[in-house]
Amino acid sequence: MTSIHAPEVLISEVGPRDGLQSVKATMPTADKLRWIDALAAAGLREIEVASFVPAKLLPQMADADRVVQHALRHTGVRVMALVPNLRGAQAALMAGAQKLTLPVSASAAHSMANVRKTPEAMVEEVKAVLRLRDEMAPGVPVEIGMSTAFGCTLQGSVPEDDVLRLAVWLAQAGVDEIGLSDTTGMGNPAQVRRLFKRMFQEIGSLTGSAHMHNTRGLGLANCLAAHEVGVRTFDSSLGGLGGCPYAPGASGNVVTEDLVFMLEAMGVSTGIDWSLLMAARESLRTGLPGEPLYGMTPEVGLPKGWSI
Ligand code: ZN
Repeated sequence: MTSIHAPEVLISEVGPRDGLQSVKATMPTADKLRWIDALAAAGLREIEVASFVPAKLLPQMADADRVVQHALRHTGVRVMALVPNLRGAQAALMAGAQKLTLPVSASAAHSMANVRKTPEAMVEEVKAVLRLRDEMAPGVPVEIGMSTAFGCTLQGSVPEDDVLRLAVWLAQAGVDEIGLSDTTGMGNPAQVRRLFKRMFQEIGSLTGSAHMHNTRGLGLANCLAAHEVGVRTFDSSLGGLGGCPYAPGASGNVVTEDLVFMLEAMGVSTGIDWSLLMAARESLRTGLPGEPLYGMTPEVGLPKGWSI
């Protein structure tokens, strides 16, 4: 690592959860653990390692306990788990997760289709999770990833006022952080700038990560827009794992490798070591043979004379 600065942004790697959950194949546990070790070695400081959902719904996540417990050996990494509800939160806290992330949809239609609950009812579920957290593990932050914040395939456009109102309710409920997710890749940079600006005005430092998708090729542009208005946490996945089923050839999540390159090229320190990140990409390839991996910079390499 040549960067002498302390990292100025946090790249939250979501591949082992968001990515693996979106592919058909199930990565064997041993390969998953090796991959997470490689991500930690590359300098990722927050990794969403698993989702605590019933194994019959998501066989890819049946080993969530073991994965969390293994990841805890990396003291420089905050081990995050996705939990859809109270039961998942309990299991994740028992396994030792150091941060919980709960999806709450801004679109009522998406919320009903996904969890059969209105966004208002989800706020009640969040309150129950916060009470459990206070009892079991008071130091563990609870983050909300607000899905469909930039548009919804079912409902169409999602009014910005709906997003803000939900964010304020969640802040009042006592969550530690609220990020915005472009679940269906409908966001554009002007919208991202506008919405995150309003988030900072309404909930200040509780404003969390930008979780952008590359479905229509705007992932990095949207990250840049979010960075310009003060966002400092970005969700992305190695190799853009988690292809979008509606757009063959387009990756779903923003590609970690390209995001690291963009930020470092701009002089924004990420704390990530490029060659070790490439090693982690190889480790992902070994664990999921045949799965397409995305990313432009990994294909052509760093520009001449560069090092990250
Ligand atoms: Zn995603």
